[in-house]
Amino acid sequence: MLIAGNWKMFKGPREAHAFFDGFDAPADVDVVFCPPFVSLAAAVESGRTIYAQNVHWEPTGAYTGEVSPTMLLELGVTGTLVGHSERRQIFGDTDEMVARRTRAALEAGLAVIACVGETLEQRESGDTELVLTIQVEAIAFAAGEHESLVIAYEPVWAIGTGKTTTPELAEEAHGFIKGLLDRPVLYGGSVKPENAAELLSQPSIDGALVGGASLEPDSFAAICRAASTS
Ligand code: PEP
Repeated sequence: MLIAGNWKMFKGPREAHAFFDGFDAPADVDVVFCPPFVSLAAAVESGRTIYAQNVHWEPTGAYTGEVSPTMLLELGVTGTLVGHSERRQIFGDTDEMVARRTRAALEAGLAVIACVGETLEQRESGDTELVLTIQVEAIAFAAGEHESLVIAYEPVWAIGTGKTTTPELAEEAHGFIKGLLDRPVLYGGSVKPENAAELLSQPSIDGALVGGASLEPDSFAAICRAASTS
């Protein structure tokens, strides 16, 4: 079971150190942290597994504001998120960009958690499977069933809203995604200590990508404990 904490644009290096001083999780759960770029070095010092939140596809070049896979590896970072819905919706990441990021990261030797998911409007208009097919196939075309690739299913309407999908709807979406690409699938979208055990007990849910509840050591540790017993 893999539990990843996405800190988004929270915690500079000082707060990152303080977090790790107060965090402990069961040894049988793979726990990954995705801090902002400026806190990666501090997070690596904790000895925990550290992923970036995004990565560019070129090794070097005139790409102001971007960071390459080799730069992350040099820092001791071992993986990255790509295609988070906030990247797609706020910063204009397209399926092509997500595919290029995925391929470059995997080729460089980083693990990748590639995020997919439908908006509320897409779900309500019956387009969930269409959207997931387009997003997952772009990633599959770039990476195939690469052993360092994990998919995260994050219905956009459940991210940071406190609204979770039902375990049954999540299970259905995970089964659909696995039918397109045979890789582990994490669930993300308002996962909390109170709902983690039920979600993680679904057969096609292989872990969780956690935003808000990963910011406090106690709540994130509680989710990791739920993963340990699932
Ligand atoms: C996320 O950032 O990937 C996420 C799922 O956020 P939250 O848990 O806050 O909904």
